[in-house]
Amino acid sequence: MSDNCIFCKIASGQIPSNKVYEDEHVIAFHDIHPVARVHFLIVPKKHVESLLTATPDDQAMLGQLLALAPKLAREQGLGEGFRTMINTGAKGGQSVFHLHLHVFGGGGKAETAMAAVMQ
Ligand code: AMP
Ligand code: ZN
Repeated sequence: MSDNCIFCKIASGQIPSNKVYEDEHVIAFHDIHPVARVHFLIVPKKHVESLLTATPDDQAMLGQLLALAPKLAREQGLGEGFRTMINTGAKGGQSVFHLHLHVFGGGGKAETAMAAVMQ
């Protein structure tokens, strides 16, 4: 738990979230500013700032984030496909400095923006 970290506060229940999953190590909840019809975040309960500060000890947790993505995506109606994203560092577009995996899809702004970037 890190003071003044919004995702630590969500993980500990101090701040409410629109939860899609929770276990001992991980919480997943809908993004408050969705970029697609479905957009949720998978967040380790342990405060790790970003991929740049993750250590070999975090390997199992990192694996769990990715392994959960298809399970939760299917449950949220994205069984035909979805996007995943991890922004790392301010220069990598990260705005909340507690590691998280974005999972989104189903149409919306993100699809349009990504398609433009990849052309
Ligand atoms: P990033 O830019 O990769 O750090 O992503 C942070 C994401 O967290 C953004 O998509 C925000 O919309 C989302 N976010 C910030 N605060 C909350 C919150 N209280 N509940 C849900 N999502 C949040
Ligand atoms: Zn945190």
